[in-house]
Amino acid sequence: MQNEELRQWCFAEQENFLKDLCTLVEVESPTGDSEGSEKMTERVGSWLRELGAEVRILQTPAGCYNLVAVFKGEGTRKILLNAHADTVFKKGTLKKNPFRVEDGKVYGPGCIDCKGGLVLGVYALRLLQQLNFKDYKQITFIMNADEETGSENSKELIMEQAKTHDLAIVLEAAKPEHGACIGRKGLGNATIEVRGKSVHAARASQGANALEELAHQVMEFRKLGNENKGTFVNVTVFSAGEVANTIPDYAMAKVDIRVDDTTEFNRIEREAAVLVANTIVPGTQVTFSLKAHPAFPQNAASVALAKQLEQIYAAIGVKMVTVTSPGVSDANYIASVGTPVIDGMSFVGMNAHTKDEVGYLDSLPDALFALTKFLMCVQKP
Ligand SMILES: [Zn+2]
Repeated sequence: MQNEELRQWCFAEQENFLKDLCTLVEVESPTGDSEGSEKMTERVGSWLRELGAEVRILQTPAGCYNLVAVFKGEGTRKILLNAHADTVFKKGTLKKNPFRVEDGKVYGPGCIDCKGGLVLGVYALRLLQQLNFKDYKQITFIMNADEETGSENSKELIMEQAKTHDLAIVLEAAKPEHGACIGRKGLGNATIEVRGKSVHAARASQGANALEELAHQVMEFRKLGNENKGTFVNVTVFSAGEVANTIPDYAMAKVDIRVDDTTEFNRIEREAAVLVANTIVPGTQVTFSLKAHPAFPQNAASVALAKQLEQIYAAIGVKMVTVTSPGVSDANYIASVGTPVIDGMSFVGMNAHTKDEVGYLDSLPDALFALTKFLMCVQKP
């Protein structure tokens, strides 16, 4: 089939696409909501089974569900597709921000993060089936349940699967101009906790003021950033004390850490251990804990995948750009096991995690075309 013919198919699919996207957006699926997760796996699972996939539904310890769909072909390439089912929006959001299409844009909770990507993946696989295309050894589609909170109960699955595939595609929204994401910072969620001794404020010398110690720690921690290395350390939440006339015995701060180089987390942990041991308020104890999400550094493999995608767009006269992002996705976990990965291969979307989340429908047919062609011809870099 010629490009132009395939492209016409993609244009013609738009209306059905929006109907299916509406179905998914109208399933509210905040992370951790088992009912929403079950409905998402039922719906997407049935679409993928109809296309001939072998579908496994795996319950997580949190009572949600990850889905793994496997398509067997007759070729040699093994490709992993990934998009997540959960959203950041609590139940009831849909009432205030319903699914709708206005002026060539689509709105609604999760419409591009990441339900648009889920539907796009299904449609590309459907086009492969209609073309009777089988020149791959295996295409595996993982829909996971908890990306928005760090993929605690799906990252092992994703990394295990990634190791056995030649390359991976993550279907988060594209940035403007079909901006594909070829690198993401790593994210550390850290907590500093101080325990002291509570006394009446009139007898402060007999207590240990956790708040004062935390204030000291915060000013030290902010020095752990290193702009030259792309490491940013920001204290973003601070809490201590309940009433004005009592010395607080507990104080807590949360720290957002962004890195380009995952080994920076080791340095920060080493230096943090020194800081927490050096208190200035006698009688206080400080602890530091860190949950680290590895970086997806822009690398030769991600650049090479983007080049292949760029050629597909160029063949139909569409310009595509590449971007790197300070935010994380499951591409970070995939990159951490050494599997070539490209992210942001859905259609163009903006304002994720806000009520203004929006997808741009003028980018949809070309994104579907590009994903389908990419699955057909991408080679391991
Ligand atoms: Zn998100």
